[in-house]
Amino acid sequence: MSTCKSSNLGYPRIGEKREWKKALEQFWAGKLDKESFLKQMEEIRLQHLQKQKDQGIDLIPVGDFSLYDHVLDTAMMFGLVPNRFEYEGEKVSLETYFDVARGNNNAVAAEMTKWFNTNYHYIVPELDHAVPALVENRPLQYFKEAKDKLNIKGKPVILGPITFIKLSKGYNASDFKTMVNQFAPLYAEILRQLEDEGAEWIQIDEPILSTTISKEEITIFNEVYQALHHAAPNLKIILQTYFDSIEHYEDVVSLPVQGIGLDFVHDQGQNLKALKKYGFPQDKVLAAGIIDGRNIWRVNLYDKLNILEKIREIVSKENLIIQPSSSLLHVPVTIKYEETIDETLKGALSFADEKLQEVIVLTKGIKEGKEAIETKVTASVEAIDRLNQSIDRNNSEVQEALESLDTYQAERQAPFIIRQELQKQAFQLPLLPTTTIGSFPQTQEVRKHRQKWRKAELSDVEYDAYIKAEIKKWIDIQEEIGLDVFVHGEFERTDMVEYFGEKLAGFQFTKLGWVQSYGSRCVKPPIIYGDVAYIEPMTIAETIYAQSLTKRPVKGMLTGPVTILNWSFVRDDISRYDVANQIALALRKEVEVLEENGIRMIQVDEPAIREGLPLKRENWESYLNAAVYAFKLATSSVQNGTQIHTHMCYSDFEAIIDAIKALDADVISIETSRSHGELIYAFEENTYDKGIGLGVYDIHSPRVPKLEEVVRNSKRALQVLDPKQFWINPDCGLKTRGVEETINALKVMVEAAEQTREQLLVKKN
Ligand code: GLN
Ligand code: ZN
Repeated sequence: MSTCKSSNLGYPRIGEKREWKKALEQFWAGKLDKESFLKQMEEIRLQHLQKQKDQGIDLIPVGDFSLYDHVLDTAMMFGLVPNRFEYEGEKVSLETYFDVARGNNNAVAAEMTKWFNTNYHYIVPELDHAVPALVENRPLQYFKEAKDKLNIKGKPVILGPITFIKLSKGYNASDFKTMVNQFAPLYAEILRQLEDEGAEWIQIDEPILSTTISKEEITIFNEVYQALHHAAPNLKIILQTYFDSIEHYEDVVSLPVQGIGLDFVHDQGQNLKALKKYGFPQDKVLAAGIIDGRNIWRVNLYDKLNILEKIREIVSKENLIIQPSSSLLHVPVTIKYEETIDETLKGALSFADEKLQEVIVLTKGIKEGKEAIETKVTASVEAIDRLNQSIDRNNSEVQEALESLDTYQAERQAPFIIRQELQKQAFQLPLLPTTTIGSFPQTQEVRKHRQKWRKAELSDVEYDAYIKAEIKKWIDIQEEIGLDVFVHGEFERTDMVEYFGEKLAGFQFTKLGWVQSYGSRCVKPPIIYGDVAYIEPMTIAETIYAQSLTKRPVKGMLTGPVTILNWSFVRDDISRYDVANQIALALRKEVEVLEENGIRMIQVDEPAIREGLPLKRENWESYLNAAVYAFKLATSSVQNGTQIHTHMCYSDFEAIIDAIKALDADVISIETSRSHGELIYAFEENTYDKGIGLGVYDIHSPRVPKLEEVVRNSKRALQVLDPKQFWINPDCGLKTRGVEETINALKVMVEAAEQTREQLLVKKN
């Protein structure tokens, strides 16, 4: 190639105003026929390509677009429809494609899980009984489409064979290589057809290379990529990695491909270090991921040019591609509609479209020299300085508190055994106490009231009165059901992070800053841009009102610091751990105010601790230590008799069980009913001595559980846990459930608790 090129790895699918989501949901609801749906999707896809072309991107990705998920696309391209769905072979129909993703009346949907350390979820391919065949060459279709309709010679993007199989389930680890060998010829065929069609580049994503993998697996890479190269010798393969540095650098850069894509943003400096140490092959292209594909901050172009200069000492500009660090799937589309964000902050933001501009500017800087982009560089430095100088980033009180942090501050006064005794006396709870996780159904009516209040159609007084009435209604319901520990129901909250973000200093919310989470579901993460500070009580009014209505303990409900951190876009001028501690200090204040107001059980939810785990095992410890510290900082200032609860909604926490213990929470509730056996096994291996509630029924479906099931689940847990430490609760919050089913399910749960209790007493006598 002649000179430095600009490139993109993937563009957000959802559209500027979530047109993609709307079309999907209309189609699923039967409000849009198939033909119009596909037409709309094509328009969105082409528009996105055109946009990238207009911006001036040289290598425009094609095939990154999806109607649901790119991992599902890959599986369907190989005809990997699980046996429980009807499938005749050949190209997978649109109906079957969505059935696999979403389930139908006869078959449950394929499992969904997190895409590496992001909040994007992919559909897990099932390889059992798999006889993979190339039933459709998707990248080829998209390549042709772009060429025919827009005269764009795109760069097809495809999920690589090794990562694809690693992310799949339904085979034994010992069969890994056999699996790879089954798929390699199909990939070869895809490449061959693309080459015939005139494709020049292909981006093969192998993010698995950024995780901890063995040397032996690198050998498999070598064999597979050798075969791919032979199949299409004129097609230039960019082996693309992202989200962290690569291990086995020397081996990876020697693989038989024409280009290597490295992340120079989320690599903690390791990729650059390896590049300097070991050099880079002269005959390969380096695709340098230099613009953060995961966060929303405008770059300091001066700093980026510095990094590029270091890269340039090793790689000639002819062999350099400038690009984002990963697909832009993980950031919102454009800042252009964010009129309400203050200019200082807005000036320092960059969403997908703006990031592509940054790529273009940097490419120009490399091609024509720094001087050519000088004004842009200065403007970027000034914009970031302005935000750094703003009072929002210079709260001296918060910064001083942060500086004076010590370990002692994050410890409870007394160890658990002493607290346990005091709490037992204070609460006088029965054996196997029953409780819920926090939220009760957010009915249509609740949501309507909130919307009206937001539009000022309802006054504060009216809205408060409505929320109070809901709280009262559900306190009465809980009395009637006979639960032991109550909650107020969280009717005043839409989202567990947004609610707190809106009440703390340092957070900004966007109008259209959506990103895809799974399928058509999008989330709008808050932006933590300034020092996080406590302003005023956030949960006190609702909690003490609820407590005033009953003699039973009502749990105060907060979202934990690590969850708030992991579900937000976080400022990158200070360390994430400092931000977590700022949030923790603000929550600590709320915890103290709750306690001062007589609330003696406080639950701090941390459903997102696990998903923040770094990709590399060697970095787990420092992350978990910091997470534990932040949680303890938020919760440790209370009296010994005050009971700290926490909640997590997943069960595969073997990797983090030590961290969970270290949280020193008096009671933890965990989701389990979808994988009961496995979790119990974890407790056989590990000793957990504090209060624990393993969810005894699944809240993800409207189904009311049978008494026997709940009893069985409880008893199974009691095989490994002492009855004295066991709590009975549902898997998670109940906000997505209906009123009737919730009441009925909780009645069953309470009855199951009584039955189990009785049986325990009989056994004892
Ligand atoms: N307290 C929250 C609720 O019940 C917890 C939600 C969660 O775990 N994600 O809704
Ligand atoms: Zn949960």
